[in-house]
Amino acid sequence: MDSAAERLDIVRTTIARAERIWNRAAGSVTLVAVSKTVPADGIRPVLEAGQRVFGENRVQEAKAKWPGLREDFPDLRLHLIGPLQTNKVREAVELFDVIETVDRDRLAGVLAEEMAKRGRTPGLYVQVNTGEEPQKAGIAPKEAAAFVARCREVHGLAITGLMCIPPAEDLPGPHFALLAKIAGDCGLSTLSMGMSADYEIAIQHGATHVRVGSAIFGARHYPAPEAGPA
Ligand SMILES: *Cc1c(COP(=O)(O)O)cnc(C)c1O
Repeated sequence: MDSAAERLDIVRTTIARAERIWNRAAGSVTLVAVSKTVPADGIRPVLEAGQRVFGENRVQEAKAKWPGLREDFPDLRLHLIGPLQTNKVREAVELFDVIETVDRDRLAGVLAEEMAKRGRTPGLYVQVNTGEEPQKAGIAPKEAAAFVARCREVHGLAITGLMCIPPAEDLPGPHFALLAKIAGDCGLSTLSMGMSADYEIAIQHGATHVRVGSAIFGARHYPAPEAGPA
């Protein structure tokens, strides 16, 4: 079986090829390696292969794994890609360099408070529920522009991007195109979209960040709830 480092190499090559095919500048797409459910020992070889940007979907799991890895790789960057409960915001602000899942006013308010208190300013993206799935986190597409404006004006948060997770049963292209359209309307240039099965399509539609897990680390051994609390 291939190693995670070998699969990482394949993903990198695929991203570079998609950048060429879709006339994207070389290096304009950042790979976020999604390491949820992977123990620290499984992440280390990918760090040693030079990967520095990682995604986790649960605050508690990240807290157990990443402080130790950060000691050895201080330049790594950690993204929160799972839903964030307000009672975990303090820990999230301390642990993560980017929080991709801002999706409601109460969360925005608590984030602003904790960031001011701790003097930390993680990057912030708004999650958009492009498929309008009731069980999925994210702001509805129609409300996204007004929510981004409230984050900025009411909560003083510097939102820099948008993130989406299309419904598993849909073709992803239209969802990626919708996210890109909303980002354009809001004057945002960062687009986190695309996973193992569809990151090349996301790059076609302008993704600046692709979140790739199983194509690097292999099939996950136990289910990581995507809609559960972070
Ligand atoms: C798990 C997860 C991914 C990665 O999924 P793969 O299909 O393993 O690449 C990307 N984004 C989010 C939000 C996830 O929860």
